[in-house]
Amino acid sequence: MAEKFESLMNIHGFDLGSRYMDLKPLGCGGNGLVFSAVDNDCDKRVAIKKIVLTDPQSVKHALREIKIIRRLDHDNIVKVFEILGPSGSQLTDDVGSLTELNSVYIVQEYMETDLANVLEQGPLLEEHARLFMYQLLRGLKYIHSANVLHRDLKPANLFINTEDLVLKIGDFGLARIMDPHYSHKGHLSEGLVTKWYRSPRLLLSPNNYTKAIDMWAAGCIFAEMLTGKTLLQVHMNLNRCS
Ligand code: ATP
Ligand code: MG
Repeated sequence: MAEKFESLMNIHGFDLGSRYMDLKPLGCGGNGLVFSAVDNDCDKRVAIKKIVLTDPQSVKHALREIKIIRRLDHDNIVKVFEILGPSGSQLTDDVGSLTELNSVYIVQEYMETDLANVLEQGPLLEEHARLFMYQLLRGLKYIHSANVLHRDLKPANLFINTEDLVLKIGDFGLARIMDPHYSHKGHLSEGLVTKWYRSPRLLLSPNNYTKAIDMWAAGCIFAEMLTGKTLLQVHMNLNRCS
């Protein structure tokens, strides 16, 4: 058992010491590898995202994500328990020390599934769609009142516990603090990222957007919950938007 654990950790370069056991891969996202594991300290399953810090750009993005998620605390947002460095070391409050590390681990609340998986089984009952939409808007109101834009709302980033029908917004990898006096530049990562939930304004004018971009995505998600189909499948290759 211990050997299996060690080899899994080695294959994926997970280096968290002995506190986390029974690692299971959850997936590989745009900016990190996610595993679930049991935290020996509290005997609970958690989700751990490993972000590899390869260059100044990845450090900048990780710093931004950590700065934002550390401050958010709400029933409809996936809880972040800890941010750890290599070998499970505690990171000091001076997150600037990240520049000296090659990877960082975000230990979060483990969620049973996400809305994308749920929608694979077809549209939701109207009462469930209403309940999830209410929780999405509740979480979003909290995020926006902290002047944070999520910028990547989509079913795969909305986590769900089916037992109590709780929805939580997760994956703040593209989130940004909004400065009302600053015109936001379109540095949203492109490539394989889905644009189906991006508003026309964001697609066509990435230098000028507001909290409304998250509301647009929420509207698209609401339609998808009710119909089981993506509302707008954008197939375009606009270099201007990258
Ligand atoms: P993208 O970068 O486009 O968002 P992604 O959603 O696949 O891609 P991540 O958000 O990093 O990437 O997540 C990778 C996988 O881990 C996904 O399958 C996601 O559902 C799962 N996951 C992430 N966080 C949690 C969590 N807290 N609990 C359970 N599963 C999680
Ligand atoms: Mg995601």
